[in-house]
Amino acid sequence: MSANSQPNTPTPEELHARMQEILKHGFQSGGGFVPQAEASATDDGPEPRPPGEKFEFKLTPREIKTYLDRFVIKQDEAKKVLATAVCDHYHHARQETQEKSLSTLTYHKQNVILLGPTGVGKTYLVRCLAQLIGVPMVQGDATKFTETGYVGGDVEDLVRDLVHKADGDAELAQYGIIYIDEIDKLASASNLSGRDVSGRGVQTNLLKLLEETEVPLRSQTDLQSQLQAAMDFQKRGKYKKETISTRHILFIVSGAFDKLPDIVNRRLARAEIGFQGRPHAPRDTEEVLHEATTRDFIDYGMEPEFIGRLPVRVACAPLDVDDLFRILRQSEGSLIRQYETAFKAYGIEAMFTEDGLRAIAAAAVNEETGARGLVTVCERALRSYKFEMPGSGVRQLVVNRAVIENPARELQRILEDGQYEERLAMAELVREFARRFESQHQLRLVLTEEAIAQLANDAIAEKRPILEHCAVVFKDFEFGLKLVNRNSGQTEFSVDAETVKNPQPVLSDWVVKSYGKEGETTKP
Ligand code: ADP
Repeated sequence: MSANSQPNTPTPEELHARMQEILKHGFQSGGGFVPQAEASATDDGPEPRPPGEKFEFKLTPREIKTYLDRFVIKQDEAKKVLATAVCDHYHHARQETQEKSLSTLTYHKQNVILLGPTGVGKTYLVRCLAQLIGVPMVQGDATKFTETGYVGGDVEDLVRDLVHKADGDAELAQYGIIYIDEIDKLASASNLSGRDVSGRGVQTNLLKLLEETEVPLRSQTDLQSQLQAAMDFQKRGKYKKETISTRHILFIVSGAFDKLPDIVNRRLARAEIGFQGRPHAPRDTEEVLHEATTRDFIDYGMEPEFIGRLPVRVACAPLDVDDLFRILRQSEGSLIRQYETAFKAYGIEAMFTEDGLRAIAAAAVNEETGARGLVTVCERALRSYKFEMPGSGVRQLVVNRAVIENPARELQRILEDGQYEERLAMAELVREFARRFESQHQLRLVLTEEAIAQLANDAIAEKRPILEHCAVVFKDFEFGLKLVNRNSGQTEFSVDAETVKNPQPVLSDWVVKSYGKEGETTKP
């Protein structure tokens, strides 16, 4: 009963090649072992507009959401709302430019306010959007601006920065995205840093940009922008527009608005008591934020005209351990890739195991900084690895739970025993072989630690790559176990060291015993 005689059954070489491919993809796309079905389950959606191509907007909200899903985990509501606002905005801009007769008086610009705690993907969403659409994006921090622009930045600099980001292309810059974080710090009710007066002034200045204004391309007070203008002229061979209109620039602002849920809750409670005579049921923060009205923002201390110019409002949810784990494993922007690349530069292949990723996520949640905590935890654990491992001769690094929870001890062990990491990496590949076997055949090989060690030892002794060795050892298992399954319904098989040393007799024994067990589901 050779597996090779089965139709569609890959040879060990093919299987090995395929596994290598799967693993390579798994490690590269978001770290850890990404099951193939999961990795290919979604349509990848549109690709970003290549630079240099004429700006044209043809996307649908659904296409935008599909693209965002590749990078940003969770935040479904924010993705939908943003995708729709962006489509409204750019379709309108196109129609207005192409069909000059379009009435512009009734259009309300879809500027957005994103609510939510730090590190949950607000900035990342906007970055991904700008990248997809192919427009420049600038990011400003509301607290860095002052009313006069003398001490801090001038809000108009944001618009000029768009032109720099667009490589001097003022036409494209007019479709850019300006993203301003920490907008809640401009609230006049928050006297924390004495910003009361100037916070209101900055809102007034921003309001001008939100409404529609012409911003001079060259700041009178800024030498750098004068130099930039000269350089742009050299590069492009012609003078460009002297002002840039903010009419088609999309503004997205964000803030934590910590106290806003209290304000909304109080208002809702008042309304419900008035209406029904009983207090409302508790709601979670995100739910409450979805109900925030213009009045609530005004009560928070925002200027009515300013908040009125931000009609699209949506809240991002906090991230729990599972979300953080998914960010590491699934997001195309996962920082795991960054680590893999960093180690690869020294010829070290880094692999993150599932339990390693879970340990990172669990530690990150305690940082209470959303996904930013992932960076903190990884840096804390792996900083000394980045220093000690290059040049040590160790070519593999398996980042498992032990590395995250006890980095110093594990590093010492790795450096003292050159083969330690190689064996860990092999064990991980054996587990992946079993996972693939299960997803392909719905039959589970439960390997003991001794069986895994035996496979690794035998592979080393036979000078065979570990996956190829697994393919040889288990070559008849697909056929044999399917027979057992048909006879007894059994789907799970314990594999110990003896089995991997002598697979044929053990398998035959299971098959023989399964006859006469029709209908039973017990394990051997
Ligand atoms: P904020 O909500 O404070 O703007 P960011 O978007 O800047 O947070 O998040 C910091 C980093 O954390 C991002 O660059 C990204 O790598 C990661 N991140 C945050 N939230 C998510 C998410 N929902 N999905 C994937 N990555 C995320």
